[in-house]
Amino acid sequence: MTVSVTAIPMLTDNYSWLIKDSVSGKIGIIDPAEAPPAIPAIEAAGGHLDFIFLTHHHGDHIDGAPELAKRYGAKVVGNACDAHRLPKLDIPVREGDEVKFGAASARVIDTPAHTLGHIAYYFADGGLLFCGDTMFSMGCGRLFEGTAADMYESLQKFAELPPETLVCAGHEYTQSNAKFAISVDPENTALQARVKEVDALRREGKATLPVRLGVEVATNPFLRALDAQSLGRLRSAKDNFK
Ligand code: ZN
Ligand code: FE
Repeated sequence: MTVSVTAIPMLTDNYSWLIKDSVSGKIGIIDPAEAPPAIPAIEAAGGHLDFIFLTHHHGDHIDGAPELAKRYGAKVVGNACDAHRLPKLDIPVREGDEVKFGAASARVIDTPAHTLGHIAYYFADGGLLFCGDTMFSMGCGRLFEGTAADMYESLQKFAELPPETLVCAGHEYTQSNAKFAISVDPENTALQARVKEVDALRREGKATLPVRLGVEVATNPFLRALDAQSLGRLRSAKDNFK
């Protein structure tokens, strides 16, 4: 493992992620919603910031990027197709690109659905997936711009990654997702166990992320949906779930 990861809680329930390549010492951050909570984390990691990786254009994923880029001279990475609504990109990327991160690299995965320009980053070194608002633990993002078919295809790309991959999503929505998941899949024993684990973590005020992809494959109803139609039905049910 060359790339390590730390969660930085931001706003009310966002996570930004700080990554470090142990070989080169390069430091990156994913989706900084705001700069102030990132600065002490960056200082503790080495006091420099080389890359800012953006998954999509929503303010709660990009608003801290300009200040951090200016303060540390970090290079901003984001979807070339969405450059018009992202902070100024130094490294515009597309599906399948490999972004060099010290001795490691990030593979760009197109995941349109939550927004049409949404991308994810997969670091094979370290086994890390930064999926923004496409997938959450036991849930998926709302379909603001894309269709259920788009979401189905995006999630299936994640499902092909190694099960030990650590899923680093954009929000701590796990407990509310768990309530919906167990309502649609009550007999799933892996899900029952994950719900218990999540409730215990939240009682102690701890993060439920990152989570292993294999756990999501066993518990996330959206990742387990058999086709785009059933995913669409689940998404509508979740949107109306109290
Ligand atoms: Zn979003
Ligand atoms: Fe978000």
